Amino acid sequence: MPGDDRQRLVFTDLDGTLLDHHSYSYADAMPRLRALDRMAIPVIPATSKTRAEVEQLRRELGNRHPFIVENGAAVFIPEDYFASRPDGTRVSGGYWIRELAPPRARWLELLSALEGDYGGEFQHFFRLGTPGIMQLTGLPEARARQANEREYSEPVHWLGRESRKQRFVAALEAAGATVLRGGRFLSVSGDSDKGRALQWLRACYREREPGLPVDDLAAGDGDNDRAMLEAAGTALLVRSPVHDFPQLRRGSRVIRSRATGPAGWAEGVATWLRGDTGN
Ligand SMILES: [Mg+2]
Repeated sequence: MPGDDRQRLVFTDLDGTLLDHHSYSYADAMPRLRALDRMAIPVIPATSKTRAEVEQLRRELGNRHPFIVENGAAVFIPEDYFASRPDGTRVSGGYWIRELAPPRARWLELLSALEGDYGGEFQHFFRLGTPGIMQLTGLPEARARQANEREYSEPVHWLGRESRKQRFVAALEAAGATVLRGGRFLSVSGDSDKGRALQWLRACYREREPGLPVDDLAAGDGDNDRAMLEAAGTALLVRSPVHDFPQLRRGSRVIRSRATGPAGWAEGVATWLRGDTGN
């Protein structure tokens, strides 16, 4: 903010952090989001969601800042957000895009090559299409379509035996994929994470105002937030109603919320703004 002696940034996970785990509501975070907007502190989504899903949320929130999609696979910066286009970005769809992982096509090719050995033992989003995703996930049509607009990763639904699944995952990994085991799906993607994406984007802000140090907060509730929580100046662990806090190596500048989800997010951001990080 003008007159401030540093550039403050908030990187935030969405599901279970800014959005309620059950209802996906951000209502409890709204007053604090508005306050950050008034203070000109960017709120930067960093999520496993797709570009289409984040764009929808940004429209709802009136958020005009960069965002990180598909677990750190790419950073989207609205064109002309910075004075000059950062190195290593390409221009597409009104964004400067920094890609930190191979495209989805790489994983679709690999999955189709594995059909021979594992035919009938797995399904995946691209092949299921919108109706199949709706059936499998219960998502309404528009949401299912957005979830399938993936650019860097592919969710796989394993149908076979557990022992075969281990071999399938090993085959994917041997071919260069990173496989994250989520609740319901295996996520097949490149070797990227939210932490590296945060560091790259933070460097862009630093370059914008080299004289002003960056003071950043990362907020998250899950294991896929760990790299980002370790990388930020301050980590905000948002309490989950369904699982423990992720384990961090760092011991200082860690805030743990008392409330869950967006209420915990608002509480933790307020703590950070007060400069009261506990240790
Ligand atoms: Mg989460």
